[in-house]
Amino acid sequence: SAKQSGKGQFRFYDPAFYDDLRSRLRTERMLREAVESDQFVIHYQPRVDVETGRVCGLEALVRWNHPEEGLMEPLRFIHIAEETGLIHSLGRTAIEKVCAQLASWAEANQKCVPVSINVSPRQFQEGSVKRVLEASLNRHHVLPEMVEIEVTENSMMGETEDISQEMDALQTLGVKLLVDDFGTGYSSLSQLQRLDMDGLKIDRAFTSELGRSKEGEILFTAIVTMAHALGMRVVAEGVETLEQARILKRLGCDEIQGYYVSRPVPANEVPPLIERRIRLAA
Ligand code: C2E
Ligand code: MG
Ligand code: MG
Ligand code: MG
Repeated sequence: SAKQSGKGQFRFYDPAFYDDLRSRLRTERMLREAVESDQFVIHYQPRVDVETGRVCGLEALVRWNHPEEGLMEPLRFIHIAEETGLIHSLGRTAIEKVCAQLASWAEANQKCVPVSINVSPRQFQEGSVKRVLEASLNRHHVLPEMVEIEVTENSMMGETEDISQEMDALQTLGVKLLVDDFGTGYSSLSQLQRLDMDGLKIDRAFTSELGRSKEGEILFTAIVTMAHALGMRVVAEGVETLEQARILKRLGCDEIQGYYVSRPVPANEVPPLIERRIRLAA
C-alpha cells in the first residue's frame, strides 16, 4: 500500500489531502455560483465613541448565505475568493450593497453613521476600488463621507505605487482610510504618515491582553500616543467586557468595537442599535 512504500510518497495517497482538495474545489465552484446568484449578505457591527457612548460608525462584514450550508463567515471563503480572483466581484458586491443600504436608511429618515468596508490587497492591485466605489456612491446618491475603507496592515506591507495612488484617490474623493488589524503586521511609522491614514484599528489580540498584564496597557498607550501624534483616531477591536472598555477609555483610545457593544447584526437590526447609548463611566 501507499503507506508501506515509504514516507516520501505518503502524501500522494493521503485521503485527507484529496478531501481537502475536493472540498476546496467544491467551495470554489459554489463561490462562483454564489457570486452569480447573489448569495451574499452584509452584517453590520457598531463602533462606539468612548467619549459620548454613541455609535459613531458601522463595519460591513460579508456573510455567505448558502442555500444548503446556511450562513458562512468570511474566514471560510475569503482566502479562496482571493486566490481565485473572485474577490473582485465579491468586493464590488459588498460596495454596492453597502451604498444601497445607506441610501435606503437615508430614504427612511433613519439616523446614519459612516460604514467601513474591508478591502483585500488584491482588489487594490486591480486598481478599481476607487472607480467602483465612486460609481456606486453616485448611483445611490450617497456622500463619500459616509463610507470608509479598511485595509489590513499586512496588505500595506507589500505597498506598491498602484496601491498608494488608489489610496490617495480615495481620500481625494472624501473617503477615510483605516488600518485594520494593526499590530499584526509590520507597517512603519513613515509609511503610516506617508499614506496619511485616518485611523488605526488595533487587533483584538491586544485588547484581550488588557486587564491581564501591565504589558498590554503599555503597548496600547504607546500606540495611542503615536497614532494621535500622527493625527489618527484609534479604534480597539474585539472589546468583549466592560472592564476592557473602561481601561481603553482611560488609556485614551477613541472608539471601541466588539461583542461588548454588539455582535455583527443584519441591516434591519441596525436602526434600534444606533439609538443605544453605551455606558462606560463607573
Ligand atoms: P476584520 O475586518 O478584522 O473584522 C473583525 C472580525 O472580528 C469580524 O469577524 C467580527 O465578527 C469579529 N469580532 C468583532 N468583535 C469581536 C469580539 O468582541 N470578539 C471576537 N472574538 N471577535 C469579534 P468576521 O465577520 O468573521 O470577519 C472576519 C474577517 O473577514 C474580517 O476581519 C475581514 O478581514 C474579512 N472580511 C469581512 N468582510 C469582508 C469583505 O467584504 N471583504 C473583504 N475583503 N474581507 C472581508
Ligand atoms: Mg475590518
Ligand atoms: Mg480587524
Ligand atoms: Mg488624508
